[in-house]
Amino acid sequence: MLTLSKPLASFLIFKSSLIFCNKLNTMEFGTKPISTIVSGAHRITNDEASISIQEWHGWGTSSPIPTMVTQVIDDLKLLEQNSDAHMVFGGNHGRLMGDFKVQEDKKHRAKYQSLNDSEKKLEFYSARQIACRLLGSRGYLCQKCWVPLEDCMCSRVKCCSLWNRMRFWVYMHPKDFLRQNNTGKLLWQVFGIEDATLCLYGISEHEDMMWNAFKCSGKDNVWCLYVNKNVATKSIQDTFSLDFIRNSEQPEKMANNDGSMNFILIDATWSLSAAMFKRLKERANEVWGEDMPCISLNMGVSLMHKLRPQPSWDRTCTAAAAVGLLDELHLLPGFNSFGLDKQAEAVEDALEVLLEVLTNRRLRMGRSITRRERHSSNIC
Ligand SMILES: [Zn+2]
Repeated sequence: MLTLSKPLASFLIFKSSLIFCNKLNTMEFGTKPISTIVSGAHRITNDEASISIQEWHGWGTSSPIPTMVTQVIDDLKLLEQNSDAHMVFGGNHGRLMGDFKVQEDKKHRAKYQSLNDSEKKLEFYSARQIACRLLGSRGYLCQKCWVPLEDCMCSRVKCCSLWNRMRFWVYMHPKDFLRQNNTGKLLWQVFGIEDATLCLYGISEHEDMMWNAFKCSGKDNVWCLYVNKNVATKSIQDTFSLDFIRNSEQPEKMANNDGSMNFILIDATWSLSAAMFKRLKERANEVWGEDMPCISLNMGVSLMHKLRPQPSWDRTCTAAAAVGLLDELHLLPGFNSFGLDKQAEAVEDALEVLLEVLTNRRLRMGRSITRRERHSSNIC
């Protein structure tokens, strides 16, 4: 049984059939009333519509700029040159607006239809989401914490070294890229981008990088933290016995892999996560001829009564899943000397800061922080 000391830990509650969601459901931060959309609109000129490698890296990745993202941006520029409408972003700053939006909608739908390869379709879809978010968030969000600049929380996040054998992969849906209430980003804010690496779904540069790392680590050192009644999962206790540590540290084992233990966290809403898991599973079968090994957390029912009254999280968030994983590992024989409890605490603290910053921001803007009715069925 877990012994989580802080009240914050109380929202690290899982139901066995639920997956981790990645954002606060009390706050629809991406949804603004029309009046805000109009007043927050801003134009991107043709000269401004390009992304440098420095800017790309600034958002939390060390990959090259995805080729398809560059292509989408070039297409946007071309459209602006050939039309009388201006490229204007508004709302959540990743959405096009006005006449340009109408024209771009037609164009991107036609392009999507013209692609007959489902792989290309996915990559185009993801790249377009990412390109719009990159252009629309510039100058509005802090690149490091993805929170609007006036509420930047960077100075309040304490960095911490992750145990050197662990590595998190934040497998993020493009719809969550640059969302201020996303929590997967907290992992690399705390641990750095080498130990908690962003992998954008459908972006070949990112997915190939992740799978190359998996190949180096070997299939016995990759796990997806995933909970779904249709997918067989093993508990952390069953997966990481004392023998695991002893065996994995044998010189002959270490010679065949880099010794990293890779944990994939699917960073998406529940409804989108199934497709992402399916993609991981298919690739695992392609690479290893086996299914992706899945692990689930063993969050005790007795923690339920400690549920914090408000604000609440949607099921549980990605960062909280990482906290749960670190805490559970810490309790296992052989794992208790790596400071995993402190690492869990660092993520918990960052989560608390994010929650506070977003709550204050919302209150300042006169918006409600109460849970929306339609999400009430998700309350753990
Ligand atoms: Zn910041």
